[in-house]
This record gives sequence, structure tokens and C-alpha cells, in this order.
Amino acid sequence: MTVIRAHHLGMCFGVRDALSLAQSEGARRPLTILGELVHNPTVLENLRKAGIHTEPELSAVRTEAVMITAHGVSDRRLAAVRERGHQIVEATCPLVHVAHRALRSLAEAGHHPVVIGRKGHVEVNGLVEDYPEASVVLSEADIDALRWRSSFGVVTQTTQPVTRVRSLVDHLRRRFPDSAVHFRDTVCLPTKQRQEAAIQLAGECSVVIVVGGQRSNNTRELVDTIRRVCARVHQVETAGELQVDWLRADDTVGITAGTSTPDAQIEAVEARLRGWDGRYS
Ligand code: SF4
Repeated sequence: MTVIRAHHLGMCFGVRDALSLAQSEGARRPLTILGELVHNPTVLENLRKAGIHTEPELSAVRTEAVMITAHGVSDRRLAAVRERGHQIVEATCPLVHVAHRALRSLAEAGHHPVVIGRKGHVEVNGLVEDYPEASVVLSEADIDALRWRSSFGVVTQTTQPVTRVRSLVDHLRRRFPDSAVHFRDTVCLPTKQRQEAAIQLAGECSVVIVVGGQRSNNTRELVDTIRRVCARVHQVETAGELQVDWLRADDTVGITAGTSTPDAQIEAVEARLRGWDGRYS
């Protein structure tokens, strides 16, 4: 069996920076992270063991220092944190800030704000909370349900697959042919690199293992992207979840991972695959 890695995989710089900021600030003083830093149970457990709190509800936060995650928050939520007298530890990814600025400039120019993304995802909430009129779309049916506007200003959740984004923007233009559609591509570079590398990997492999948390949106998107090229794709959080009957001796097995997956988890999965001799001990 041959094992190969995607050219780009695993933790992005935004998550790495947020994690190291949480660790250094958490070592200095009591710290609460507002919401999950990453959707990866191992990382969250390690933070908990280091005495760092994770709390989704601002009203329940008991520490002075509050960390904003890489996913970012709305201006409204940031103001609410300040009003409670907290010291803010800001870990919003600069590429999420790019999406916020793009949406603001489109809305201020009078275009109806549209976000291509998953309703309820923390990054999408942060984008739209300051624009109650904004629409969030993830499918052609969502676009069909929009009402006519003279102009739309469209941005994307940073972790959306580029192919979906392009096809939805095209659909919006077809659905409202006499409206202006102003599109800003705010899918981040690490996501694009991981998606492209995953497609290439899927074309070279007979089976692909995607390492990442079950609740990680970008990990699930990687699985969906790969499945269009390679039907034998499996998602695992840990090496222990690998199953013998997924593999054959003549397989070429590809490994990729979501942007919230720590290096150690990828390495453990790779080591177990390389040690495979028809069974696992
Ligand atoms: S996925 Fe992209 S936008 Fe999100 S934290 Fe990573 S680099 Fe930043």
C-alpha cells in the first residue's frame, strides 16, 4: 500500500496564531474563549486542561480577559463585550477581517448584502449580525427564494468551496438578469489551496482519509469535494478510528486534513496507515 499526503493540508496560519495566542495569554492570566476556538475536540480538551475556559454565552463569562476566536465577531458583539468591561484578546484571522470589510463596503454602497455560507456558522453570524437585512445562501433554492433587488453585494464565508461559490454567483446573475451583482471572492487562500490539493490528491488515489473534527465545517467540505472525484473517502478524528476494511494491499491512500486539525493527529493517522500490513495491532 502506498501512502501520500496532499500538498496543502491541516492547520492554517489563522488557527495556528489563535491557538498560540490562547496558550500564551492563558498562561499569563485567567482567560475565557468566546465560543469554540476550533471545532476539534482534541484541541478543545487540551485548552481545557491548560485551565482556559470556553464559553459560548457572553453573560456566563467570569474572567476579565475574553478572547475573540479566528472566526471573528460582529461589531455589535464586540461592543457588547466591551460594555461588560472585559479586556479583549483579539484573534480574528486577518482574512476574516477582509470578508468583513468587503461586506461593509458593499452594504455602504447600497447593495443588498448576501453571504454565501452556512446559516448559523459562527463566522457567518459574525458577518451578518451587523446587517439584519442580509441574506445567507448556500444553494440555488436559497437564491430562488430571494426577492428582487436592483443590486446585490456578495461575499463568501472564508471556507466555502470555490466551485460552489462560482456556481451560486452565476445562478444569482441568471435568476436576476436585470440586477447588478457585485461579487467579492473572500474564500481564503489556505482554503483554496487545501481544496485544490484535495482534488489533485483524490485523482491520484484509490482511497482518501480526511483527518478532522466531525463538527468542522471545512473538513466536511473537503470530504464532499473529494467524494466527487474519489468515492472511497473516509473522515476520522483520530488514528484509532481507521478501519481495516476500508483498505486493500494495492491501494494508494491519500491523506488530507481540515484547517483545524493539529499536526499530531495527521502524523498519527499517517503512521498507522504506513504500519498497516493487512490488519491493525
Ligand atoms: S480558514 Fe482561512 S480565514 Fe479561517 S482562520 Fe484559517 S486562514 Fe483564516
